[in-house]
Amino acid sequence: MMPISKVVGWLCLRHAAAEVILEQHKELQRQVPLLYALLCVNAAAVAYTHHGLAPDWMTVGVPLVLVTVSVWRLVDWVLRRNRPTGVASARAQLQLTILLAAVLSAGYCAWSLGLNSYGGAYEHAHVAVFIAVTVIGCIFCLLHLPQAALAVTLVVSVPSLAFYLSSGNSVLVAIGMNMFLVTCVMIQVVFNSFRSFAELIASRGETERLGRENLRLAHTDVLVGLPNRRHFLAELASRVEHGGDGFCVIVLDLDRFKPINDTHGHLVGDRLLEKVGDRLRDCVDGTVLVARLGGDEFGMLAEDDGKGALALAQRVCDVLSLPFDIDGLSVSIGASCGVAEFPGAGATAHQLFDHADYALYRSKLAARGTATLYSIDHETEIQSDRAVEAALRTADLESEMEIHLQPIVDGRTGRAFAVEALARWRSPTLGNVRPDIFICVAERTGLIQKLTPLLLAKALKLVERLPAGVKLSFNLSAHDVTPAMMLILVSLVRKSGVDASRLIIELTETAVLADFEAARQSIDLLRALGVEIALDDFGTGYSSLSYLNRLAVNKVKIDRSFVGECGTVQGRNLLCSILALCSSVDLSCIVEGVEEADQLHILHGLGFRHFQGYYFGRPIPADDIVSWFAEHGAHSEIPARAPALPSVASA
Ligand code: C2E
Ligand code: CA
Ligand code: CA
Repeated sequence: MMPISKVVGWLCLRHAAAEVILEQHKELQRQVPLLYALLCVNAAAVAYTHHGLAPDWMTVGVPLVLVTVSVWRLVDWVLRRNRPTGVASARAQLQLTILLAAVLSAGYCAWSLGLNSYGGAYEHAHVAVFIAVTVIGCIFCLLHLPQAALAVTLVVSVPSLAFYLSSGNSVLVAIGMNMFLVTCVMIQVVFNSFRSFAELIASRGETERLGRENLRLAHTDVLVGLPNRRHFLAELASRVEHGGDGFCVIVLDLDRFKPINDTHGHLVGDRLLEKVGDRLRDCVDGTVLVARLGGDEFGMLAEDDGKGALALAQRVCDVLSLPFDIDGLSVSIGASCGVAEFPGAGATAHQLFDHADYALYRSKLAARGTATLYSIDHETEIQSDRAVEAALRTADLESEMEIHLQPIVDGRTGRAFAVEALARWRSPTLGNVRPDIFICVAERTGLIQKLTPLLLAKALKLVERLPAGVKLSFNLSAHDVTPAMMLILVSLVRKSGVDASRLIIELTETAVLADFEAARQSIDLLRALGVEIALDDFGTGYSSLSYLNRLAVNKVKIDRSFVGECGTVQGRNLLCSILALCSSVDLSCIVEGVEEADQLHILHGLGFRHFQGYYFGRPIPADDIVSWFAEHGAHSEIPARAPALPSVASA
């Protein structure tokens, strides 16, 4: 037996789930008005057939009251149709419907049974039909509110059955029993169908919950637990669309993450990213959205002006430069940031993101570990970058690109043992464009894939024109360090018939750090071919030599920024330690950017042997250097400030 309180709770919908209540309310909005309309019509029909037979208060007064209440309820339900309904109000409406189902049923039932005292057999039959049809119609309409259906059944069928049983008329007794049986069966059907209905709603709730969970997962980075790129871009687009107060996009890129991932393995890399995520979360308040955009790239949306966001970005850079403890292993990385303010730095989500990215690129180029705010100067740079890009895309690279050569000298003999091939581009529209500019644009646009093989082919043709003892040093871009490009380059060298041992390939330290594993494989491939490898711009990438020694490189080219420092004790100490380290691992050192006799003197004194720089000769057209060698012989000493080597000021 169910306790009474449970039954009352069920009758009053006390424990019904919110979503079920809302769905019941929705269904009943369609059906209950029909129910009241049916009541009105049926009551009017009975009142009509009994008019004149029964007193007027029974054929006009009572039905008028009952119909008025029914019409009031009908209108109330209809008016609610297009209004949003909360759970509490829906529940109250359903409770009222249950109550009225009982009260109105009692009213209609008492009235119709009362009418049975008037008229003849036809009228009695009409009353019986009225009760049967109305009760069945009501149960149907209340399919989604079993409490009300049950109330109607109990309030109408039980008294009717008792009434007809006591009538003594066998036909009426049969009708009473028949009606009672049918309503009992129907009430069972109502309960069964409502159970399925409630189960369906519950499973739909579960499906919706799973859907929401899926959506949340689709917007979350599983490793770090932060929102992911998709979420970040959607949020950025929505903030741009809604305009409102200014906000800033911050993009952040970790420095030196790749080498740590490569050296210590992906597990350490993953733990490091998690810790970066934790630090980022700790750095910001609830108004800042922090997301992982992928790899070692993170993004933030800060409701602040450019100045405030720049300060936040710098704080983040500082916090990330502190060492991380990963299960007892201390690792140091850093971060650079780019900041773009809405709407000044871009009116669309795409522009803002691109400009924050550009500011990040400037940070990386100028001073790693810092944040840069996108400014009008950057706009100008981008414009000129675009002009370079447009010219480069339409350029006839074969005829517009040329190679200049700069000697690399053995300081003790004063002879050039190699020349570095440096690309020169004379664009018909832009004139001479600096190689660091067009190489950068070519890298960004993917045109480098076309440019590098073309330049290498030109450089290879020069090798045979150089004296036998002079090697040719060729620069690769960071974007060239891929297995696919290596295969292209290797096949070019093979096809050219050039002795590979006469080639030196220069890879920058930052290119190696960007993808250590790809660099290692590329270097091994090139070494297998027989070429030498030089690590270019050494000292600018913050890597340790012992780390780089894991690569099969032959030479190190010390960045020219160190030469500028050779007048100071600190600069000399730094150069000395690099030289000592190189000697200890049997790497030969070339010092780049030697411009003055004094510098050469100091560097000589420190023990350096190989040099490159304006002091010995600027990069000049290949024909000029070839004729110089032809004139002076391969073994001639290159005179300081070589008068015979014309300087190329425009380059
Ligand atoms: P890099 O590989 O470090 O090349 C040396 C740069 O230093 C050259 O600039 C050279 O002209 C300059 N240089 C040489 N001696 C001195 C000196 O005494 N003082 C000063 N101030 N500069 C000196 P350049 O030719 O403008 O090339 C700039 C950069 O463009 C190169 O730096 C290299 O990264 C890139 N690059 C040039 N040609 C190519 C190429 O064919 N392929 C690729 N991937 N990059 C190239
Ligand atoms: Ca170089
Ligand atoms: Ca260099």
